[in-house]
Amino acid sequence: MKYKGRERSSRVEDRRSGGGGRMVRGGGLVGLVVLLLYGVFSGNFGPLLQNLLSGGAQSLTQSTESAPVSSAAEEELVEFCEVVLRDTEVVWERIFREQLGARYEPPTLVLFRDRVESACGLASAATGPFYCPADRKLYLDLSFFEELKSRFGAPGDFAMAYVIAHEVAHHVQNNLGTLEKVNTLRARASETQSNALSVRTELQADFYSGVWAHYAERLLGTLEDGDLKEALNAAQAIGDDRLQKQAQGYVVPESFTHGTSAQRMEWFARGYKTGDVRQGDTFAELGS
Ligand SMILES: [Zn+2]
Repeated sequence: MKYKGRERSSRVEDRRSGGGGRMVRGGGLVGLVVLLLYGVFSGNFGPLLQNLLSGGAQSLTQSTESAPVSSAAEEELVEFCEVVLRDTEVVWERIFREQLGARYEPPTLVLFRDRVESACGLASAATGPFYCPADRKLYLDLSFFEELKSRFGAPGDFAMAYVIAHEVAHHVQNNLGTLEKVNTLRARASETQSNALSVRTELQADFYSGVWAHYAERLLGTLEDGDLKEALNAAQAIGDDRLQKQAQGYVVPESFTHGTSAQRMEWFARGYKTGDVRQGDTFAELGS
């Protein structure tokens, strides 16, 4: 993907040097992948995660260490994020105008390190990238890009762009009222039904990411050879069936919340092929 020296978004909030925060019960956030369940609880995240999982409210000790210094490699990632976010602004502004007859209100992207406080609660890097509908912000720890490559086997800059595009897609769902509708339904559904609704929401976000890629190519001409393959490979890498098989050796379809590898790839590809947001009604097509 061509990104060096291109126009950047001004809606990136850099909180990488911030630390501390109060542990609150998280809720309503939508992510890219369920890392909590499959994750190796590495480093300092153990107690944080246990708190998150048990929903406990507890103060965290403020870190006294000095803020880590950003490396040149990390600064390049920041530039990358700003450019991709700008591309999503240009593309979704156009789609809202042309296809939906509405105005697009772009989200803010918060960059953090290790842990962050959002209106959906405190989250650690182990949560993975996520979108919080309550404050309309996307949250990303840049270290996830390294994980995407080494742990999930999905290298490439367009795989990284897909991650951002997927979270922006949740913002689009928020703008269109989809998240609110789904959350209302999920609140009174059984766990299995609730998971099924989550899968449809996530697959639609993958579909919207594909629509974004379609427009990025057509409008901005920024895709290079192999880019599409990188995004599809990333979608495949984070399918529920693949992650469950890796983590526990077997799959439990009722517990899926994001869809299988095949579904994630299929919906992304469909979005890319059509470029038409109306083709992405995962709720009607898969039943709910
Ligand atoms: Zn998601």
